Amino acid sequence: MKQSLVGLPLTELEKLFTPSFRARQLYQHICRGTRSFAEMTDFSLSLRETMENRYTLYSSEIVQQFKDRDGSVKLQIGLSNEARIESILLADKTGRKTACLSTQVGCPIGCVFCRTGMLGFNRNLASTEIVEQYLHLQTVAGSRIDNVVVMGMGEPLLNIEELRKALVFLTSAEGVNLSKRSVTISTSGAAAGIWDLAEKGPNVRLALSLITADEKLRGRLMPATRANPLSTVKDALRRYQQSQKRRVTLEIVILGGVNNRQKDVDLTADFAQGLKVAVNLIPWNPVFGALFEGAPLRQPSRAETNGFAESLRRKGLNVTVRLKKGCDVGGACGQLGYLPRTEVHET
Ligand code: SAH
Ligand code: SF4
Repeated sequence: MKQSLVGLPLTELEKLFTPSFRARQLYQHICRGTRSFAEMTDFSLSLRETMENRYTLYSSEIVQQFKDRDGSVKLQIGLSNEARIESILLADKTGRKTACLSTQVGCPIGCVFCRTGMLGFNRNLASTEIVEQYLHLQTVAGSRIDNVVVMGMGEPLLNIEELRKALVFLTSAEGVNLSKRSVTISTSGAAAGIWDLAEKGPNVRLALSLITADEKLRGRLMPATRANPLSTVKDALRRYQQSQKRRVTLEIVILGGVNNRQKDVDLTADFAQGLKVAVNLIPWNPVFGALFEGAPLRQPSRAETNGFAESLRRKGLNVTVRLKKGCDVGGACGQLGYLPRTEVHET
């Protein structure tokens, strides 16, 4: 199999191509999203042919695209080993574009409200596969994407080494050059990963999928988070805030009647004590077949969502409600899941 080049650090390309300015030219092409060697007309025809014979650019390919009325696009991406992942281009009314990237095929945390969690875990993505998602989305967007949320399939901080390499590519000045402030990682609370991020960076934004600060309920909704008690997660967040000086977002997916009780309000306020946080409420997006201990989950009514937000505000918390994006295409939070090849209808 030919080696693929997209997503490799410049230092790796320099080992493959001499003189080093050639490597740098190639790197710039890749960062700009050039899709074929043929388009690299600043290289001689014979060099382009040699490259074509020895290497490929991308290791993954766009298998299907689903466009939403709101301008969001869900991509199904086929990886070299036949597995599939999904990545989303989120668009808002102001024209702001955000790439939502996956870090794993499936997810080992097993949250009962999340489609990815219902799939189980297959494998970690390589850094190059994470970078490729961004570049595929940029091609589909037709213009630069300035924001990245690592909120697709998988638990990012259980794949932190590869994620870090991908983020270096995306945020370094000689790479894609995104601002670190416009990159957010969302975690279910992998404490060791939060510590690692605090120690070694990169200094990006962090969101914790708190869901509820009722430890017992949390363990039932998000089984593999039991390995990280909330007190440990909070210590890690404090450490993160000492070094990175950034406000952390607490994400709460509202599961109607399950985690929007007064008890959840009180415990969330306790958890937030001593941290600099903003709370982001996400009304649950339906996932086919999602059950909590045998009972179907339901979306909260608008009144429930507003009531929950108000109760949290009365505790002095800064609360926003996340607007739905990508819902028609199954690209909204928690609706991501790859399909085995046989189930996909090629178009
Ligand atoms: N694994 C990481 C990042 C991916 S999930 C994490 O859990 O943080 C991204 C966000 O989508 C999380 O905040 C998660 O709680 C939320 N989510 C999962 N399933 C959802 C659903 N069905 N409806 C709305 N949000 C959901
Ligand atoms: Fe994994 Fe996040 Fe889904 Fe939980 S919500 S199963 S941690 S992707």
